[in-house]
Amino acid sequence: MKRKPRLFTPGPTPVPPEVLLDMAAPMTHHRQAAFEAIFSEVSEKLKTVFQTSSPAVILSGSGTAALEASMINTLSAGDKAISVNGGKFGERWGQIGAAFGVEMNVIDIEWGTAVDPAQIEEALKAEPSAKAVFTTLHETSTTVLTDIKAIAEVTAKTSAILVVDAVSALAADELRMDEWGVDLVVSGSQKALMLPPGLAFAAIGPKAEAVMKTSTLPKYYLDLTKAIKSLGKKTTPYTPSVSIIIAMNTALDALVDEGMETVWARHAKLAEATRAGVIGMGMELFSQRPSNAATAVKLPDGVDGGTLHKKLRDEFKATCAGGQEHLKGKIERIGHMGYYDQFDVITVLSAFELALKEMGAAVKVGEGVAAAQRCFAEE
Ligand SMILES: *Cc1c(COP(=O)(O)O)cnc(C)c1O
Repeated sequence: MKRKPRLFTPGPTPVPPEVLLDMAAPMTHHRQAAFEAIFSEVSEKLKTVFQTSSPAVILSGSGTAALEASMINTLSAGDKAISVNGGKFGERWGQIGAAFGVEMNVIDIEWGTAVDPAQIEEALKAEPSAKAVFTTLHETSTTVLTDIKAIAEVTAKTSAILVVDAVSALAADELRMDEWGVDLVVSGSQKALMLPPGLAFAAIGPKAEAVMKTSTLPKYYLDLTKAIKSLGKKTTPYTPSVSIIIAMNTALDALVDEGMETVWARHAKLAEATRAGVIGMGMELFSQRPSNAATAVKLPDGVDGGTLHKKLRDEFKATCAGGQEHLKGKIERIGHMGYYDQFDVITVLSAFELALKEMGAAVKVGEGVAAAQRCFAEE
């Protein structure tokens, strides 16, 4: 049977039709007033999404470009820093540090759990010369949400800057950069921002900008000082990704018009219903501190995640994401960040129930969907 392809991966995510259509417009040149006006509008709206009054720069590249930029623009070779490894993306901070000769003190936590802000406090006490703490708001590989607000209270009392990977959580989970005192936040286009992959963002607060002045790690394309300078002239140092930036104006309008509080509340409801659905069908949640951006389903013994993933993707055309590393085959992740509504949640839960049933798992068909419906009906 022919089915409609549906994307439930925690990035890339579905893109609204009006945003897709923007990208089909004839090409314009970026060094002209009309594009500069759009660029400047987009940059302002981006600050609202980050909840900051500091500059938010747009880089061409995937989210990792902004992760790398945040490190090479603030540190020097031999500098000490702290990172948290509780999944693939926290691990990436350590790998970027290793690539650039940063002495990274890695706090290893069990995947599926969140770092205790007291662990960061201890690490900073043990290493008072640490220049930065690198964390992840939503560890997408485990769907764990980090208590960034509490960690920011810790770093604020030290000279270390707090750098947060919010690639998958920006515009899904609450993040108040200025109010919480986060120094540098990085993100990307293909998650909750409802855009295709290709753009990376960095919002740079005053403490981070001050640290940037002393950084000597090599940089050229990803030089944030140059990007901030160009931002003041409504442009970028090199050719920007013109079509995605034009489309981004439309995507950000939707978020800014809705208001960030409402955007977060909408994601909270979708996440709550997804979790209720997973539990309702008789499965368990993997994350001990679940985000509102994605939900990881812990699969019972005897249910192979690889088989479930392929069945969902190839037969049901509902593409979710499997587990990574030692979680391969053990969890299946459902993204609900960005362009999703209640009926998307109902659909993916239904696909899970039917696929698990076909696999012979002890699933309560219809009960996951019913639990999610009840959750939405409470609204
Ligand atoms: C998606 C994601 C990234 C960026 O990955 P890219 O493939 O470089 O876009 C980084 N961190 C987190 C937490 C993510 O979810």
